Amino acid sequence: MSNSTLQAVRGMNDILPDEAQLWLWFEDTVRDWLEGYGYRNIRMPLVEPTALFKRAIGEVTDIVEKEMYSFADSLNGDELTLRPEGTASCVRAVLQHNLLYNAPQRLYYTGQMFRHERPQKGRYRQFHQIGVESLGFAGPDIDAEQIVMCARLWKKLGIRDVSLQINSLGDAASRQRHRDMLIAYFEQHKEILDADAQRRLYSNPLRILDSKNPAMQAVIGSAPKLMDELEEDALKHFESVQSRLNEHGIPFEINPRLVRGLDYYNRTVFEWVTTRLGAQGTICAGGRYDGLIEQIGGKSSPACGFAMGVERLLALLQEDGMQNPVSVLDVYVVHQGELAQNMAWRVAEDLRDNGLRVILHCGGGSFKSQMKKADSSAATCAVVIGDDEVAANAVMLKPLRGGEQQRVALKDLQQKIREINLSK
Ligand code: ATP
Ligand code: MG
Repeated sequence: MSNSTLQAVRGMNDILPDEAQLWLWFEDTVRDWLEGYGYRNIRMPLVEPTALFKRAIGEVTDIVEKEMYSFADSLNGDELTLRPEGTASCVRAVLQHNLLYNAPQRLYYTGQMFRHERPQKGRYRQFHQIGVESLGFAGPDIDAEQIVMCARLWKKLGIRDVSLQINSLGDAASRQRHRDMLIAYFEQHKEILDADAQRRLYSNPLRILDSKNPAMQAVIGSAPKLMDELEEDALKHFESVQSRLNEHGIPFEINPRLVRGLDYYNRTVFEWVTTRLGAQGTICAGGRYDGLIEQIGGKSSPACGFAMGVERLLALLQEDGMQNPVSVLDVYVVHQGELAQNMAWRVAEDLRDNGLRVILHCGGGSFKSQMKKADSSAATCAVVIGDDEVAANAVMLKPLRGGEQQRVALKDLQQKIREINLSK
């Protein structure tokens, strides 16, 4: 057996208890926020048939071409993939269980996503998203609702310095027209295109617009704009989203190069971007995907959704100086002797029955060493029990953040602890 220490997979992070406090606080805040808009939780498996992502996300995309953790189940040969995003799974689940049968759905999910990318700040191989999907809604009102609700979350979290970019990708006919124009245009500038762009020229020319290659920026800048091709309905839809944003005082910029990395989008797309996380500045992204449900086998139905990157949001909060919240604990129970131990267990369980948060010292040791543990715990007071306390059916109650210790009868203990808590 090798004695080298085993390490986590590269790009997949442990979240240790101190930092996990911040995650818990964040998750609570997010849940409140989503419930405020009537979104309901859905939980899908982390693993899905590979075919689902190929069909939903598109064969010629970064994710499907090079970022998926796909494998054959060695037990039965099934082709499986660790989910790289949630929309495809969510739509699959909704169709499989017929949730759209007679009502549209406002849904959300949270959890791990997996993409084989080069790990760097804000880019990991296992990361977390909060995904929000509204299925069965055709109008621009729901697109606007999703953007307005994001703005509310930023406010709730105290996040500043994020800006909103929006675009419209139109519908099938304008996309086809624009696609033909793009191919013709880029064919004239073939010598400037890098290998990726050359490869996508005929399969997915829209994605060339998304390239960050500095050498191609000038050519991309003058490429035909989909916005100029929009059909009347799509244009009206887009204008309606904009006027709702104006109504709510949410500033935005129309970015004609915003095309998103997944194939399923049409009409409204949006990204919330910050300049404070280096190159990994997109904290939230989404848009409308009216064709996806039919594409993965359901009855055609409009939909719109977005996903936020939790690691990037938390990095932004930490950048702003947010500290990890400390875990809360009321009491550390210290005891010595067998009778005292029995009493300590009863006292601890009784306090928990009454809603207090209690650590019962385990592992023995002198009073002194147990008190040290109590002092370095997050508790506001220690309850000390020895033979004298057993005899008196009382305990010593010692405030850990200043104050005199006192002997307290069992029946008064809870009340006294709450008084100490209140005085902190
Ligand atoms: P990027 O352009 O940064 O690669 P993307 O377009 O691939 O992002 P989406 O698929 O839209 O990202 O995912 C939504 C959000 O999830 C992103 O805006 C980002 O905040 C987060 N995200 C995506 N990939 C990663 C990753 N590898 N590590 C951490 N967060 C990520
Ligand atoms: Mg990506």
